[in-house]
Amino acid sequence: MGLLSTRVLIIGSGAAGYSAAIYVARANLEPIVVTGMQPGGQLMITRDVENYPGFVSIQGPELMEQKRLHAEKVGTRIVDDEIKSVKQLEDSNEYRFRSFGNTNDYYSDAIIIASGAQAKWLGLESEKRFQGYGISACATCDGAFFRSKVVAVIGGGNTAVEEAIFLTRFAKEVILIHRRDKLRAEKVMQDRLFKNDKIKVMWNHTVEQILGEENPRKVTGIVIKSTKTQELNVDGVFIAIGHAPNTGIFKGFVEMDEQGYIITKPGTTLTSRAGVFAAGDVQDKVYRQAIVAAGTGCMAALDAEKFLECAS
Ligand SMILES: Cc1cc2nc3c(=O)[nH]c(=O)nc-3n(C[C@H](O)[C@H](O)[C@H](O)COP(=O)(O)OP(=O)(O)OC[C@H]3O[C@@H](n4cnc5c(N)ncnc54)[C@H](O)[C@@H]3O)c2cc1C
Repeated sequence: MGLLSTRVLIIGSGAAGYSAAIYVARANLEPIVVTGMQPGGQLMITRDVENYPGFVSIQGPELMEQKRLHAEKVGTRIVDDEIKSVKQLEDSNEYRFRSFGNTNDYYSDAIIIASGAQAKWLGLESEKRFQGYGISACATCDGAFFRSKVVAVIGGGNTAVEEAIFLTRFAKEVILIHRRDKLRAEKVMQDRLFKNDKIKVMWNHTVEQILGEENPRKVTGIVIKSTKTQELNVDGVFIAIGHAPNTGIFKGFVEMDEQGYIITKPGTTLTSRAGVFAAGDVQDKVYRQAIVAAGTGCMAALDAEKFLECAS
């Protein structure tokens, strides 16, 4: 077990974590980024990114590799490890926090939490195979790839209904598949959904299988089941059954909302604990975009710098 120390520890290596690192490193604060179980974050499972300013089109893993190289080049130390718990050192004159990882412990004066979130998936093997090839969990990100196509949206809450309505801008038909006989979405959203004649709802159906082809890899349909099993021809499937922030280890350490998202002071990245900042999807259940994560990563770095300046 190693013992590392830094002025600013950044937990997470997605768009938020690396962006924070670039700013912290350029302020000569020699940050450490702990990558976690998914180095590069959610964009590593995204094939084509076409909405990140500066890149007309780039593959998610390539974008994240560029960010990693950029962060390293300006002086970030990147450590492949996962943080298990964090505590404030009440009686230490040296460092304010100790974070406990699998392979190292980390002392720091400030912490930027950029541990992101995860889309919930159905858990089918075929769903994994076609991720980025017709299966998505983000209509804002991938809707434009389905112009004049038929797509299915799986879910029944606000996200599913919003995504279904949004997708009608591109798709010629949107089939909302829900496992119950009524939606959980707000009434006003439901009204908008039912009025949209591009959307068809299939009640009481679950998805059994994603069908597709190789060379080129693409989705061709899904198998759904209610009282009987049937196949639907679709070109894309949007899984909209929710997201979960990666915040389990921070319970009791910083304030969170009822869904586990970290609460930040509006317009800043300040959490309920002085010296701890949160950036990216871990504190954002509204926008969930890489550019927003990167932007709040920059904010967290500047907030942390200011905190350290005032504290010293
Ligand atoms: C299928 C899909 C497609 C998408 N497409 C696009 C797109 O085209 N354009 C776009 O702008 N956005 C897209 N998004 C959204 C985008 O990926 C996210 O908004 C962005 O990745 C959030 O960045 P983040 O840094 O906040 O978190 P994440 O990318 O979730 O990264 C979190 C990081 O924290 C680390 N971590 C977690 N727990 C720990 C721990 N205990 N210790 C250490 N590290 C930890 C993880 O390993 C990971 O590195 C897509 C999302 C999905 C799911």
